[in-house]
Amino acid sequence: MRSALRRAVAAAGMATAVTAVLALAPGGAVASTGPSAGPSAEVEVEIPGPEHGTLAGSGHTSVPASGQDRPSPRLSAAQRADDGQVVEVLNNGATKDRLDIVIVGDGYTAAELPQFHAAAKEKWAELTAIEPYTTYRNLFNVWAVDAVSRQSGVTGDPGADTVKDTALGSYFWCDGIERLLCIDQEKVDRYVAKAPEADLVIVLANSSKYGGAGYNQPSPTLGYEGISTASAGNVKSGQVAIHETGHSLGKLADEYFYPGYPGYEQYTGPEPADRNISTLTAGEIGGQRVKWHRWLGETSPDGGLVGAYEGGGYFVKGLNRPTDSSMMRAVDKPFNLPGVEAMIAGFYRHAKIVTPVTPTDRTLRLRHTAKADVTRLASADGRRLKVRWHLDGKELKAFEGRNRLRISDLTLRLLDLRTHTLSVIAEDPTTSVRDPEIAATLKSTVSWKIRL
Ligand SMILES: [Zn+2]
Repeated sequence: MRSALRRAVAAAGMATAVTAVLALAPGGAVASTGPSAGPSAEVEVEIPGPEHGTLAGSGHTSVPASGQDRPSPRLSAAQRADDGQVVEVLNNGATKDRLDIVIVGDGYTAAELPQFHAAAKEKWAELTAIEPYTTYRNLFNVWAVDAVSRQSGVTGDPGADTVKDTALGSYFWCDGIERLLCIDQEKVDRYVAKAPEADLVIVLANSSKYGGAGYNQPSPTLGYEGISTASAGNVKSGQVAIHETGHSLGKLADEYFYPGYPGYEQYTGPEPADRNISTLTAGEIGGQRVKWHRWLGETSPDGGLVGAYEGGGYFVKGLNRPTDSSMMRAVDKPFNLPGVEAMIAGFYRHAKIVTPVTPTDRTLRLRHTAKADVTRLASADGRRLKVRWHLDGKELKAFEGRNRLRISDLTLRLLDLRTHTLSVIAEDPTTSVRDPEIAATLKSTVSWKIRL
């Protein structure tokens, strides 16, 4: 454990340096390419903390991308018929405009697939119980991909000597650590590739044993931001998976640290690039107007005021974090204010809040109606998106808030026969984002050409 921890911290902050290169070969089979790939390729994973809810005692380690590199199980014809089916758990619209979560199950026999589907829905419910997932739940699609295993349960559960023949090769006791739940990434990717799109991947093991792992390197071929593994039957394990999305989607650093481990007493390096850890004091952050300065002194959802709390980024001293114990330090806590802002930025990298219902690829005429689908936010305060219409860049105030516009309602303004541009712009007026650079991304536009 101690050596895993050491390797871990040495590699922290350079997670992108180690990436398994997996390419999709024609026909959908996954083939390894590039000099660094192959069975010996290593990937960086985050080890979850012990089960009591804080992540102190977590770490990172390198594990083989190919897991235990067992051959794919041979399935019977009947099993093959069920294998690889994609089940829609939640469909909120076109994949290019939504953040697509792909959930793959492991250790489920064909007969147990209904249990996997129920577990996928449960994990989605756990995810959307946490802000900002709750408010933005309608920006997501969720796909469950059926992977048929020959045996029920996964390797390492209940004991280190338990071996199961499963579709994704999931195993506890990865790198000798009981709660580290690893997978064969190539096998996972083969199933992920069947979903319409993947922005985030969750692998659910048919187990109730506490454990998980965060594979937070973006996939160069399938485009997803990371894989979190979790036990289907363990809520704490699901919380760890949400913490991992803080890295993959939110690009947040860990806010925990290692008291009592030599080498992590004092950070002496340069100011890290991460937005939620800093070498600076609260006074310096405020004075220099950097990092989370816009949130200083505010009450955070995880409790207490935003400031600069000593310890973070694995170091006991020399690095500060915005709040005492957010989701990036203690998995039973919500994201803090800077964390929520970073997660919202991540959502908007993948999703749009207005999408066309009336196709945009043909010119609309007098008889047509321009219709758009505007995302409904599920925030507790009933907040709505701002919707505005523009004709050739000039706002049509009378149509504010609407999601459709009859072209015939515009005739007085369109006395000439030129082609005009009609646009609908949806904007998120959230108070959870204060960084103007992020705020500028909380807007989507749909445009049509119109002619009389
Ligand atoms: Zn972490």
